Amino acid sequence: MDVAAGDRRCGCKGPMEPIAVCVRYDGEWALVHRCKACGAMRLNRIAGDDNPLALMSLATRPLARPPFPLDRLAVDTRRGH
Ligand SMILES: [Zn+2]
Repeated sequence: MDVAAGDRRCGCKGPMEPIAVCVRYDGEWALVHRCKACGAMRLNRIAGDDNPLALMSLATRPLARPPFPLDRLAVDTRRGH
């Protein structure tokens, strides 16, 4: 399978933007790209020229902006003991 580093374009020729990082069962990271034109999503392997800092930023983005108050998590944890 040929996955060139520059092959980040959708079938519709629209530009793909990275929206998330996921980890495969073997521990390898993959990037989720979404087409800005048609919204199609594609999973790409991490390329050698991908910026590690940008990847980490992408991976921690949901943790940095939780959609719920964090103090509620603490209450739920205490209830179990
Ligand atoms: Zn597209």
